[in-house]
Amino acid sequence: MQLQPKRIAELRDLLNRYSYEYHVLDQPSVDDAIYDSLFGELKKLEAEHPESITTDSPTQRVGHELKGGFQKIEHSSRMLSLNDVFDRGEVEAWVVRMDKLLPGRRHEFFADIKMDGLACALTYEDGVLTRAVTRGDSFIGEDVTSNVRTIANVPLRLRKAQGFEQFLIGRTEIRGEIVMLKKDFMTLNDKQAKAGKPLFANPRNLAAGTIRQLDPKLVAERPLTFVAYDLLRDNPADIPTNMFAYEALSALGIRRNSEASVFTNVGDVMHFVDEWGEKRHDLPFNTDGLVIKMNDRAQFAQLGIVGKQPRAAVAYKYAAEQATTVVKDIVISIGRTGAATPVAVFNPVVVAGTTVQHASLHNADEIARKDIRIGDTVVIFKAGDIIPQVESVVLELRPKQTEAFDYEKALQGQYPELEFERQGSDVVYRVKGLSGDLILKRSIEYYASRSALDIDTLGEKNVVALVDAGLVKDIADIYTLTVDDLLKLDRFADISAKKLIDAIADKKHPPLERFILGLGIRHVGAQTAIDLANKFESIEALQKATLEQLESVEGVGTVVAESIIAWFSDQDNLEVLEKLKDLGVKPHFKKKTGKLVGQNFVVTGTLETMSRDEAADRIRALGGTFQTAVAKDSTYLVAGGKVGASKLKKAESYGTKVINEQELIEILGKK
Ligand code: NAD
Repeated sequence: MQLQPKRIAELRDLLNRYSYEYHVLDQPSVDDAIYDSLFGELKKLEAEHPESITTDSPTQRVGHELKGGFQKIEHSSRMLSLNDVFDRGEVEAWVVRMDKLLPGRRHEFFADIKMDGLACALTYEDGVLTRAVTRGDSFIGEDVTSNVRTIANVPLRLRKAQGFEQFLIGRTEIRGEIVMLKKDFMTLNDKQAKAGKPLFANPRNLAAGTIRQLDPKLVAERPLTFVAYDLLRDNPADIPTNMFAYEALSALGIRRNSEASVFTNVGDVMHFVDEWGEKRHDLPFNTDGLVIKMNDRAQFAQLGIVGKQPRAAVAYKYAAEQATTVVKDIVISIGRTGAATPVAVFNPVVVAGTTVQHASLHNADEIARKDIRIGDTVVIFKAGDIIPQVESVVLELRPKQTEAFDYEKALQGQYPELEFERQGSDVVYRVKGLSGDLILKRSIEYYASRSALDIDTLGEKNVVALVDAGLVKDIADIYTLTVDDLLKLDRFADISAKKLIDAIADKKHPPLERFILGLGIRHVGAQTAIDLANKFESIEALQKATLEQLESVEGVGTVVAESIIAWFSDQDNLEVLEKLKDLGVKPHFKKKTGKLVGQNFVVTGTLETMSRDEAADRIRALGGTFQTAVAKDSTYLVAGGKVGASKLKKAESYGTKVINEQELIEILGKK
């Protein structure tokens, strides 16, 4: 992992470059979601390291420096940007802040659609359009009056309207967004295509690029639309609320969104947010969210500005389908057919509304094609319910000493006991010498074994017979077997067939820890399975666990945690889990009870009256934990036979009590 100040500097430089391409050249090289995601990371890192904030950080500035060619004009007041919020919790937190800053006041919230265009301030003197200035760097913008005059829906003179006469006297400023409507954009691109010319990338940048053309004739050929979102007067008392401003705008003949509404509580605001989540796609222009502000303008002004954003407003951004994150590791999971699948494990990131922390990289070729390396910042894509994918690498943020991912070396490192091969044109590496059937047999045997689900009579021979006969293709299939199926095989007669079917049915609700163990997740042994069950209490919670949550479980280090993540990101495994669920296999979890809860046992040497496995089972049945080595939290070291001096010393230093087999039997009590 890179040092944070270095990362801050790199993010700052890259975002400044993106911002220049977007604001000055009107030619962004990345999607807004990627910019926003990296911006979010920079903001978070700067909050943790305030000493690293520089004045040229994109978190400190609005827009970008201006391009030459237009006269520079200072704004009457700053044209600010807005703080982003992404979910209900953040909206609620903002409302709580408003209540705290203005206690005991009734608050009204004003919400409108946020248009994705180019901000512009129009000045009317005595009702006549005199100037149009872009937002620029928020203090100073560019004079684009002659171009704005070509926009058909910008009135050169404000309409006279009863009740709003004061706006035709003196200076009235109207701020809004210049957009290109989706239909106009499509028509224009159709024309481009017919003329064999390159297509424009998106309406926002085309609108911005057009308005900053030096030739107004060219501007007039490209249909632009102005949609207002603010009205300003030298005397703020002329406009008591934002809703009043919108009414005035309509009366004066200026287009504004008719969807804008006022709400008195956060529940209704969120209802509006949800309503527009889908419907916004049907609007005539592109949007990236909503703007929510205090309706009362005196309150708005009183709350002031922090940095480059007003306190009394937020921009609600809808879930983006892309986000960036850093690849922590690439782990390889071996599926039930022996196929090796690489999985990227990364810092948890929210994409399309859900937290994602791993994604299948499919195969070695895919990693090589996208050149994905450990330590890389990558773009994750996820649309709705679709499985997340690593879309691309942000090469500019690649740490210096990374190497291309060596798949074969990784296979060897992660599975030193296995050999892999790739046959013919197969893109997938598979375990050599182990057929899919053999792996399947082993995994069913393991699932049914004594320490896992303990399914009576489902031993090696029966498993082999079932798989060879094609009756069972995955673990879940054992639950679909019938007596008639079995009777077709030589090995079974009426009684034995019924016995096996009953034994399988009997284990449809296994204890969670046994089920976890039975899944055969690499590195997850009996004690880890118990610890995982105790921590997560359900398969669904285990499946969703983050790397950090997994690592916080006793005895689970990075290797084990990654192996669990890899297992749950393998589509084959997820399908089997789903199938088990559909077949009514429901593991149950019982909170640990018994007199040994919280007590940890280590057994060393051979016991005379019971096997180690039996000792472990009995300790666990009473709620105790069976450890494999003396650790800081070991309660008892059970000495079967001689104990080595080093173990004794360790036990002594940890305050672990050394007992003999007889004492253990007394602790366990009667069977
Ligand atoms: P912002 O998200 O801070 O929003 C503030 C702006 O929203 C206002 O200035 C106003 O112009 C506009 N707006 C639209 N509808 C409005 C309404 N109804 N009420 C009030 N204001 C409304 O926007 P920003 O400061 O312009 O900049 C950030 C945006 O630029 C982000 O969306 C970012 O993704 C994009 N960007 C992209 C790149 C890139 O490379 N893709 C680079 C830089 C910036």
